[in-house]
Amino acid sequence: MCLFCKIVNKEIPANIIAEDEKFLAFHDINPKAPVHILTIPKVHFESFNEVAPETMAGVTTFIQKVAQETKIDESGYRIITNIGEDGGQEVKHLHFHILGGAKLTSCFVDNS
Ligand code: 5GP
Ligand code: ZN
Repeated sequence: MCLFCKIVNKEIPANIIAEDEKFLAFHDINPKAPVHILTIPKVHFESFNEVAPETMAGVTTFIQKVAQETKIDESGYRIITNIGEDGGQEVKHLHFHILGGAKLTSCFVDNS
């Protein structure tokens, strides 16, 4: 079972912000912004490549609610989903990073 499936099953603890039947939102363990939340579908999809449009419809409403509850909806935020090797995906369970709480910078190409 993957790491995030274990969080869904409460086998690994996480700082949970919001949960419903289908989705879970929790704080990233290594935050890159004052607000850094991960939102996942409870059903395992490896990445955006596999996800069904119905799940994307559901996650839209869920993320909007999380943004309102964490009070970043007005100031603005960024949603990122990394896909595969070049996308920099480390955990192979579809997740959406919600980043906010400060003015964000861009750094998309790894020149290191
Ligand atoms: P990725 O690079 O796959 O898009 O993002 C994975 C994210 O999961 C990273 O930002 C990382 O800090 C976070 N992460 C990894 N392991 C854990 C964990 O056990 N708990 C939580 N809350 N976040 C984790
Ligand atoms: Zn999983």
